[in-house]
Amino acid sequence: MTTLKQALKTHFGFDSFRSKLQEDIVKAVIEGDRDVFVCMPTGAGKSLCYQLPAVLAEGITLVISPLIALIQDQVDHLRELNIPACSINSKLPVGERRMILADLESKSPKLKLLYITPEMVASPSFQPCLTGLCSRSLLSYLAVDEAHCVSQWGHDFRPDYLKLGNLRARMPGVPCVALTATAPKNVQEDILQSLRLRTPLCYSTPVFRKNLHYDVIYRELLQEPYTHLHAFVKEALALGSGPVGQGCGIVYCRTREGCETVAYQLTKLGVLAKPYHAGLKAGDRTEVQSDWMQGKVLVIVATISFGMGVDKANVRFVAHWNLAKSLASYYQESGRAGRDGLPSSCRTYYSPRDKEQMNFLIRKEVSRKQEKRGSAKEVDKAAITDFEAMVLFCEQEGCRHATISKFFGNQTPNCAGACDFCRNPKAVRAQLEKAAVLSTKTGAAQSKEPRGAFGFDRDLYAGGRKGYGFERYDEEEGGSGSGEDDALKRKKDFGDLFKKQMNMRKGGESHKEDFVPPGRPCILQLNWIKKMTPVRSERRAARGSPG
Ligand code: ADP
Ligand code: MG
Ligand code: ZN
Repeated sequence: MTTLKQALKTHFGFDSFRSKLQEDIVKAVIEGDRDVFVCMPTGAGKSLCYQLPAVLAEGITLVISPLIALIQDQVDHLRELNIPACSINSKLPVGERRMILADLESKSPKLKLLYITPEMVASPSFQPCLTGLCSRSLLSYLAVDEAHCVSQWGHDFRPDYLKLGNLRARMPGVPCVALTATAPKNVQEDILQSLRLRTPLCYSTPVFRKNLHYDVIYRELLQEPYTHLHAFVKEALALGSGPVGQGCGIVYCRTREGCETVAYQLTKLGVLAKPYHAGLKAGDRTEVQSDWMQGKVLVIVATISFGMGVDKANVRFVAHWNLAKSLASYYQESGRAGRDGLPSSCRTYYSPRDKEQMNFLIRKEVSRKQEKRGSAKEVDKAAITDFEAMVLFCEQEGCRHATISKFFGNQTPNCAGACDFCRNPKAVRAQLEKAAVLSTKTGAAQSKEPRGAFGFDRDLYAGGRKGYGFERYDEEEGGSGSGEDDALKRKKDFGDLFKKQMNMRKGGESHKEDFVPPGRPCILQLNWIKKMTPVRSERRAARGSPG
């Protein structure tokens, strides 16, 4: 089909499809006899799957997208390519809106892609326009981007997405394309059902990545946890030395203090590591990130606020010093390893204590939300079940890859020794048995603790009174047991230690490195980072980088 390739080049300037999958999807959409469901990771090129068919079709493609910012980004991009695209939204100047509506009412509208938010689809002011488009059969496709927003099991649930099922019913002859990043199986099922897709063709990138080796280590069973981590880091970094050059890695911690401690300990043991979290000044964060990107610092020890826009090919390992909040997040976070396709390691240092803390934080946040809205919802259950899936991943005897694939609704992959269980099931069992013995020893003490509404006493945990919930649990202070004085002293020591190590690395050449200890947390800053950065930087990174 050379004409399709030509169109790809003419309209989008690409020489080839990103992948066979992208090409297959475009063809299926153009075929048009069945709805299409697309599940591909962020940056895989999902937009093109409906944009190219939209350009080639006679009529107009209606695109639903959850955020005006995302829409603006897409519209700008299409306009740069000279593709007639626009958006009708509440922020649109009246004049522009009139022009768009005039085009839509004309005999043969020039517009190819019309982007709108689900709220706009439902708004009365948009109805005459929509009815006009439907009755004049001017719609070629309905594309629902970020389709996971339709699911209460998803973390970005948007009630207005539910109304899209009705929209669908109003345009029975128009093929629908629903797109989402890798989503758990239950979310996928919700999408198909809520959007009323008719026997859809489903396309998804396989979840299994055979170059990633997964394993779980029970942290509490270790005599010297930092030495253990250090050995892992050294080994993983050695995987990448060779013609491709030195690799690097990420250690994720739940708290700021955890980041500081782990970075300090690793550096002390001889591996340059720097902390990264929202408690640092913006300038320092940028510097840490760029040092890591340039390979000046091999290991970054971060809260999950790091990594959203980061697309580095030679990440040789991702270690979780603390448990991820859900299996979906874990897959995403650990998946930052091995983007170059070379062998890489993903390890979780599991601890039942961590589990209890996370469990507490998640349930507290859920109950806080329920109190606020006065009722329980499916969304609440989702946070808990996704976390339980993460716990099970750590605690069960079974292939780690299989667990992940199953969670995302994929077939059981051929792991072939790419996880600790498949490599050595006896060792995994032995570890679980030791952990069970340990927990019966310490468990007796735990059960005497006073229990709160969810089985945990609120005041037992740092942050319990501050009202931190799981949305910000990654930035919670304290919680790892050591006192304030200790932490302060460590922060002071860290600057000196880091300088020393840096100089050693540079062969004694003096290097001015101003390590600024992190300031107090700022909630506003936190919210800004969590809410704004991911979307913007993710898009920028996605645009700028192939593969
Ligand atoms: P997603 O929605 O899956 O996260 P996007 O649609 O935003 O991904 O695309 C990510 C990046 O990939 C964009 O910069 C896009 O221009 C680019 N891209 C898409 N298809 C191709 C292709 N066939 N060749 C090269 N780059 C592509
Ligand atoms: Mg997208
Ligand atoms: Zn396995």
